[in-house]
This record gives sequence, structure tokens and C-alpha cells, in this order.
Amino acid sequence: MRIRILGSAAGGGFPQWNCGCPGCRAVRDGSRPATPRTQSSIAVSPDGRRWWLVNASPDVRTQLADAPALHPTGDRSTPLQGVLLTDAEIDHTLGLVLLREGRGVSLHATAATERTLREGSGLLPTLERFCPVTWTEVVPGTAHDLGGLTYRAFDAPTGKHDRFGTTEGLPGRVVGYRFTDTASGRYAVYLPGVQELTPAVQDEIDGADLLLVDGTTWHDDELVRLGLARKTAHDMGHLHVGGRGGSLEVLTALGVPRIVYVHVNNTNPVLLEDSAERAAVEAAGVVVGFDGLELEV
Ligand SMILES: [Zn+2]
Repeated sequence: MRIRILGSAAGGGFPQWNCGCPGCRAVRDGSRPATPRTQSSIAVSPDGRRWWLVNASPDVRTQLADAPALHPTGDRSTPLQGVLLTDAEIDHTLGLVLLREGRGVSLHATAATERTLREGSGLLPTLERFCPVTWTEVVPGTAHDLGGLTYRAFDAPTGKHDRFGTTEGLPGRVVGYRFTDTASGRYAVYLPGVQELTPAVQDEIDGADLLLVDGTTWHDDELVRLGLARKTAHDMGHLHVGGRGGSLEVLTALGVPRIVYVHVNNTNPVLLEDSAERAAVEAAGVVVGFDGLELEV
């Protein structure tokens, strides 16, 4: 199985168009080493020929252009087989509309996510006005075979308020995915949005060969400290990396051989390549994910 990180930043990307935080400033003026990043998405393939996106970010056009394995193989034929969604966030779904030139979009999402896209954001009816959409319901706990690769979703704890009020309290609003290579039985976990590493979540992660995990902020109150928002990472349904009880401490104790942070917010000091926080992550043997990173499982 091959996994390519298409976009490693959280919503807004790095730098974010309206943000003047230290990291975003460093990318613009080059005052400190920092690499631009697009918005959160990966591509997964059992064989390097058929690929599925996990989330479709607003940056999907440049992400596909930068990924030779995902380029068309002939007249309008594409290695892209479909799109799996972890949730209905606009940063994870706006790119669906940019795929409208294809013969149709094959969408895999939970019933809760489908409902939000239909009745909340309205993105699905909009897409359906431009191209056919087939929806495969993702049922957490049930394996789905993609040929050489299976996925199984699991509920990710989220404290995030449903802004549209269409799915409040329903299961499947935010999920992580476990991807298993059929031949080897080895698996990777993709978990770009999780509020808390509960025992149930740790059970999903334990035994994975590779974990791609929510690295949104370093401090839980990072956006509050910078005066950018009143909400903590926890309030927004995400994890913080640093300090006691941070994900770095918890995850490195689990014994997963490879851990990569994804969905990294532009305010997170790990994106500054000369920062103490970056050095701490690397000293723990954990990778700060970057666009274009390819991993084999
Ligand atoms: Zn910023």
C-alpha cells in the first residue's frame, strides 16, 4: 500500500491568506526556515495505479498536479477511483466541486457526513448539479474492500459543535480510517481530526505500522495566546502536541513504529524548522508531515 500526503496543513493552509502569526510571516518573508503547506488530504493506493483521496481539500487541483502517480493515463482517464471523507468540514470537502470535470464522483462517507453535505453545507446538491455522484455509506466498524486494500472507519471523539444542527449527537460525524494492505495484513491509520486519544482510539492505533495523526496545535490554547480565536484546540475537536498529556507524550508511549503529524495548523511552532518544538518532535522519532511525502506500508 502506498500513501501520499497531498496536503499536511490544517484549514487555511500555510501561510493562511489573512494570517500574520509568526509562522505565516516566516513563510512570506523568509526570516526563519519554514515550508509552505496545502490543506489536509492524503491519497491511498494498493498498487500505485488506483488511488483514493481521503478528503478533498480546496487545494486539490495543485495537489493532483504535483503528484505524478495521480496524473491522467490517457484521454480523461484518471487513476483517481473515489473520495473517502472523514467528516463534512468545508476544508475537507470543497475540493469535491473541483473534481466535477470527471465522469462522476464516487464518494465514501458516513450517513452523518452525507446528511451535513446535503442539508447543512449544501455542497452535495451543488456538486450533483454538475456531475453524477455515487455515495457508498461508510459504516464505522465495517470493513470495505477496495481490491488489494480494505478500509474500516471508526468514530473519532469530537466536541465540535455541528454548525448546521443537522447531525448533532449522531455517530459518524468525524471518523478516522484504518487502511489494511490485503496481502501483508499491515495497516495504517489516518486520523486528521480527533479531540481526545480515548482508550477506544488508542485501541485502533495500537498495532498500526503507520499513524498519520492530528497535529493541529502545540499548545491547547495556542490560538487564544496569539489573540486569533477564543477557542482551544480541544474546543475545535482537535489535539495539541506538546506538554504533559499532549499527543507526543501519549502516542510515543504506544509503540507505533512510524508516526507522522498531519493537519498541522499554521500557528503550530513545529512548522518553524529551527524551533525547539520541532526539535522535540524529531528527537521523539516523530515526523512533521509535509506535502508530497510518500509512505509505504
Ligand atoms: Zn498563521
